[in-house]
Amino acid sequence: MIDVMNPANGTLLGRIPETSADTVDAAVKAARKAKGPWESLPAIERAHYLRKISAKLREHRIELADVIVKEQGKVRALAQVEVDFTSDYMDYMAEWARRIEGEVLTSDRPKETMLLMRKPVGVVAGILPWNFPFFLIARKLAPALVTGNTIVIKPSEETPINAYLFAELLAETDLPKGVFNLVGGRGSVAGEALITHKDVDLITFTGSVATGSHIMQAAGKNLTKVNLELGGKAPAIVLKDADLDLAAKAIYDSRVINTGQVCNCAERVYVERTVHDALVEKLTAHFEATRYGDPSESDDLEMGPLVSEIGLTKVTAAVDLAKTQGATIVCGGKPADLGKGFHFEPTLITGATHEMDIMRKETFGPVLPIQIVDSLEEAITLSNDSEYGLTSSVYTSNLTSAMQAARELKFGETYINRENFEAMQGYHAGHRKSGMGGADGKHGLYEFTVTQVVYIQE
Ligand code: NAD
Repeated sequence: MIDVMNPANGTLLGRIPETSADTVDAAVKAARKAKGPWESLPAIERAHYLRKISAKLREHRIELADVIVKEQGKVRALAQVEVDFTSDYMDYMAEWARRIEGEVLTSDRPKETMLLMRKPVGVVAGILPWNFPFFLIARKLAPALVTGNTIVIKPSEETPINAYLFAELLAETDLPKGVFNLVGGRGSVAGEALITHKDVDLITFTGSVATGSHIMQAAGKNLTKVNLELGGKAPAIVLKDADLDLAAKAIYDSRVINTGQVCNCAERVYVERTVHDALVEKLTAHFEATRYGDPSESDDLEMGPLVSEIGLTKVTAAVDLAKTQGATIVCGGKPADLGKGFHFEPTLITGATHEMDIMRKETFGPVLPIQIVDSLEEAITLSNDSEYGLTSSVYTSNLTSAMQAARELKFGETYINRENFEAMQGYHAGHRKSGMGGADGKHGLYEFTVTQVVYIQE
């Protein structure tokens, strides 16, 4: 069994089983068995099941958010957003049932019709991280099911309880057995068994670059299709004509949300020299006013703990290294002394340079380094010189600068004059080491399909 702890105070919340390779095999077999009947249902009937699940989630929305607060350390308001967004996402994907389209192609031959049909990939393995543990279930399951696939989900061993609760609620619906399966446990056991299973047709993974790279290699054995949503080091560019109040608030929000543990949120700032001091002053005011602590004790918080002791150690080491490499800590800079849990002070860093690790490696904590630049072009060059390419943001009141940034930034997403938060009808996809393929919207939906071209000669 694996202990599941509350990261805000170190209490034991429960234990989950370490699923063996044999049980993973049974789950994949169940998914394979259920696939035929599920695929042959009209898509609209599959969508009805998704709506039944979302209705169940809405009935239990408070209790689900409570579990996320306790096992992941999210503040309650954000945990509630996560649960509600998950229900909405199920409904949104259900709406695609009548919109999944093939194509009729022009043939080179007389009296021939060519049809391009979209079909389900087959059995999907969904492997999840801990930072949005509940929403990620829906991001994998909903598009998989509506397009006719069956699925085996493995949640993170850090935050599995919400997934078990999801499975219990789902079992109260009449979803056919085997369409959804849950396996718990560590990546090294249950995860490995899934990614090397010859009967898995698509591995859709969200997590770190290191694990994503490993999964891709393992998938090579059976040539299993992969879809990878990995880490990021999102730049935020603030130009001298930006609305600085808006920029400071949006960047701040994007940095403390989920205690900085969000793949798409601003991890480094490039600000034009003439507005550097003004921006730092505004950001400092926000950072110093942050209300943080144990979200299971208070609902009036903006920030909870980091997810684990490992997370705390990594963030502490990253900030210490920034200091050693010559950066200046404006506020925060060390683990917060709350007497319990894995809390880190909201931390603002100035004097950062391109060579420093704090500007290049994913920190995944409430830490914001700032570097001065002299032009948009310099900011774009520095932003693009990164192994990551997930999201980016720009703050400017000049349309030409905004459009130049949109054209030249090489990232899967660019936010202009707003905080980093994607919409379900968008397409969340990382360039470079941030991933392969993407999620959400029409393009994300079709990642769960394969195509077949049919030639009909009269
Ligand atoms: P992680 O890579 O450590 O773990 C993710 C999952 O992979 C867990 O379920 C884990 O058990 C499993 N796993 C680990 N080793 C495995 C193996 N050998 N085989 C199969 N599965 C294995 O990531 P994490 O720490 O849970 O999540 C944080 C990372 O996720 C950050 O880098 C963050 O940027 C990224 N992330 C990306 C997105 C996105 O959409 N791009 C979203 C959320 C998080």
